[in-house]
Amino acid sequence: MNNKTWHGLDRENFDWFPFINSELCTGCGMCLLTCGNNVFSWNDDRKKPLVVNPKNCVIGCTSCGKLCPENAIDFPGDPKSYVTDIIKNHKLFLGIRKEMDARLSKFPDHILNGSGNK
Ligand code: SF4
Ligand code: SF4
Repeated sequence: MNNKTWHGLDRENFDWFPFINSELCTGCGMCLLTCGNNVFSWNDDRKKPLVVNPKNCVIGCTSCGKLCPENAIDFPGDPKSYVTDIIKNHKLFLGIRKEMDARLSKFPDHILNGSGNK
């Protein structure tokens, strides 16, 4: 089985994903259109979205919730503190730095010299 990871951690261990309040949801479809990670599917009987792939949700992302016109989408906490706590508790700083070095090595054109201001 090919488990998803988040900066080296098993994504399965984290409960960050959207919860839809079906009482508030009007089925406008904005959340499904907003998410590029296949988290939602469309329930054609109820004419409303369902969260079918919760662990595809990007930890800390709240885009669908922000764009929901009915405020029908909740997350398990404040995204900033949720992500910050993971980074600190799992001491991810070194790993993130290594990831960034690898990224810059792969895409050297992302490196700017000087201030980068034009
Ligand atoms: S954006 Fe909000 S109201 Fe629209 S379908 Fe999604 S949860 Fe329902
Ligand atoms: S929070 Fe972001 S990644 Fe997660 S379901 Fe919403 S749009 Fe998709």
